[in-house]
This record gives sequence, structure tokens and C-alpha cells, in this order.
Amino acid sequence: MLIGGGTVIDEVGERPADVRVGDDGRVAEVAAGLTPRPGEKVHDATGKLVLPGGVDPHTHMQLPVGAVRVSDDFASGTRAAALGGTTTIIDYVTPERGEDPLGAAARWRTLAEPSAIDWGLHLSFTAVVAESVVAAAVEDGITSFKLYLAYPDRLQVDDGTVVALMRAARRQGALVTLHCENGAAIEELRREALAEGRTGVIEHARTRPPLLEAEATSRAAVLAELTGAAIYIVHVSCADALAAIRAARERGVRIQAETCPQYLFLDETRLEGPDAEDFVCTPPLRPTRHAASLWAGLANGWIQTIGTDHCPFTRADRRVGTTGEPGGVRDFTQIPGGLPGVETRLALIWSAVRDGRITAADWVRLCCAAPAQAFGLWPRKGSLAAGADADVVVWDPERRHGLGAGDLDMAVDHSPYEGMVATGWPELVLSRGRVIVRDESFVGDPGWGRYLARSPLSPDGGAPVTGR
Ligand SMILES: [Zn+2]
Repeated sequence: MLIGGGTVIDEVGERPADVRVGDDGRVAEVAAGLTPRPGEKVHDATGKLVLPGGVDPHTHMQLPVGAVRVSDDFASGTRAAALGGTTTIIDYVTPERGEDPLGAAARWRTLAEPSAIDWGLHLSFTAVVAESVVAAAVEDGITSFKLYLAYPDRLQVDDGTVVALMRAARRQGALVTLHCENGAAIEELRREALAEGRTGVIEHARTRPPLLEAEATSRAAVLAELTGAAIYIVHVSCADALAAIRAARERGVRIQAETCPQYLFLDETRLEGPDAEDFVCTPPLRPTRHAASLWAGLANGWIQTIGTDHCPFTRADRRVGTTGEPGGVRDFTQIPGGLPGVETRLALIWSAVRDGRITAADWVRLCCAAPAQAFGLWPRKGSLAAGADADVVVWDPERRHGLGAGDLDMAVDHSPYEGMVATGWPELVLSRGRVIVRDESFVGDPGWGRYLARSPLSPDGGAPVTGR
């Protein structure tokens, strides 16, 4: 197939070029003025942008949370991802406390089999594990781990555990991702709020202030400095945490940062509205000024990637633990936290290109190339170089697409962006050379997606080793 006449945007830059996709599902060549070969299908991309498929480094498909479960499974979530231009996800294996992590990873691989796009896995640890477990996971292509500094009842690990796992990860060439909020302090603030009868949804934000995200971020950075581990801070939501990350980078800590569209496009006032439950995520939405800092961080390279933390719950499931009646008492601690997002990331961030906040090259770097680089998928994913997987998006910069629940394909009955209309949406999406989305219709298949065994970090601790 030849995708001709478009403007290619990738790590090389933005230029008029044609993209030839080989029969092996890989990019064959990218150059201006390619001539169609006999029998070759041609897609006219005149006036369109041609980019590597999106790589979403942070999703939670099908995850059980307390009494409920994330409403997207791997089949529905990856189909929605594809429709929005994302062709790779890396999902978090989240074992229950006490569950064997490798057993959980095996369970996730079965759950993920119906995926319509390629997928990799991160693995969370809730306790110290033998280094052989870390080594076995890396051998299986799970080259990043997650540690939670929050959620004391389910997931949180103490600082000693962090140090031990950072050391093991460093020796095994793995990246440590961290959820940075001070869980013990938050637990006390929540207890105080409930004791004082402050049960409304806004208390979700009041009891998880930016200060406690910054404290945990800076502690994670100090422990990375101590151990020499490479770390990646997920879902940075506030200026305070970003300042801690910048300070750490300046003293040479190997730290990368991710933010998510919800922290760029939504703010804390949503937690005071009538549908407040629908906006609960963790860290919480912040006052508007924080988004300005995050945009500066993206434009200046202090934040490397944009993931979604895709973690949708239906409106009913969000309200299972609350009365939900107008004026009724709503206990904010009972609301499952997480927002839908895997389908809307590219369109939302593209809107920032149109608004002049970031460049088109930044957009592709943040959403496609850098996540692949950070997590050992480069240059197979996130790149249009010859030999890369032909995960290609033809992006129509003028196509309008609603962002309400009724316009979207995620398996959830509400949207954080209800009423918004995006200008810019994919017209064609390829996964390993196969068209899986054409004109907003999904034409792929569940199960087409393959497991991605990811590369470990290189021995010097720099960029991941490529070519695995
Ligand atoms: Zn998450």
C-alpha cells in the first residue's frame, strides 16, 4: 500500500512524503514522489497528516476495583483506542495484595488476547519480591514495574520496599514507574473529613492536595538518586510535583514524567457540579493554574509523555457506594476513581497544536515516539522509519468529531468532554500494515493485536536497548 501526498510527521520532522507499507506489515520506505507499483493500493492523503500510530503507555482495561470493574475490556478498549488513532497500549497488571505477580501477569496475558491492537504489560508489585521474579518478568518482556506510594489498603509499598525493588530493577534493566501521592497522610485527611461530616465529592480533591503529590514525587526521586534506578512518574497532575521532577533532573536523577489529558483540559470545579462523581480520578483534578504549568512542562521537555490512565466506570458503578440523590449524603471515599480516555488522547492533544500551545512535532513525540522510547518499543513502535511496524495514522486535521459519550466507542455511558467537538480525527488507521479503521469505522478484528515483549534498559541505564 502507498499512502501518498500527505505530510509526514515523525521523529525526523514534518515534511511532504509518501509512505510505502510492505507486505510484511512493516514500513518499506518514506520519501517524496514515490510511484505506485503495479497492483499497489494507493491512499490519497493530500491535505492530511501521516504519523506513527499512537502509543498509550498507561491503561487499565478490565481492572477490578473494589466491588466494581473497569467497564472496558481489552476487546472494547482497544477497538476504541484504534478509532482514536492509538495502535499500541501498555496496560498495568495489578495483582491483589498477596497474589503471585507472575501469576497475575499470566492472567493478564489471557485477558488481553482479544485486543485489536498490539499491547504490552507493566507489572505492579505490592511487596518485595525475589530478584528472580523481577528477572523472569524482564525475560518475558515486561521491562517496567509499578510501585504505589498511595492506597495503603490495597497497593501501597513502604520506602524500604521501594529501595529494594529499585535496586533489583536497576540490576535487571527495568524501569520503575511510580504513583506518587503520600498515602498515609491522605488516609489521615480522609479520616478527618469523614469524622467532620465532610463527605461531598470535592473532598476527594481536598484530601489529596498537590503538596502530598509533590512530597511523594520528591521522595521517589531521592530514592532513585540513592539507588541509581531509572524512574518514570505516572500521571503528574500539578505544578508542585513538576517542580520536584525538574529539580531532580537538574541534579542528574534518571527521571521521566507523564501527564494525562484530564489534567490539561479539566479542572477541580468539576468535582462540585451535579455529575461530580463522573470526574473522580486520582490524583484528582486540580485548580486551573496547574494545567498552565503542565503545558509549559510539555512544551519545554520537562514532561516526556502523555498517557491516558484510561480507567472508565459506568455512572451506576461510580455511585454504588453513594446515595446519589440530589442533596443526599455522598461519601467521596466510596467512588471508584478513573476516567475514560484511550480514544480521545490524540484529538485532545491535537487541539493544543491548533491553539499554538505545542507544535505538531511535539504532539507526535509526546503521544507516539517518546512512550515507545521510554518503554523499550522503539523504533518498532512510534516511528515511521523503514522496518518499523506499519502502524500508521492518516490524520485529517479538519475532520470534526464529537467527544460526548454518544460520539465515542469506549464502553462507558458518560464522557468527561461531553459537549466538546474535536477538529482533527483519523481517517485511516493501520496496524502492522492492515487497515483497521477507515472513515471512523472499525474494520479490524479482536485478537489481531499481538503481545509486545519489550526491551530492557541498556546496561548504562540510558535509552532502552533496541531491536529485541
Ligand atoms: Zn493508572
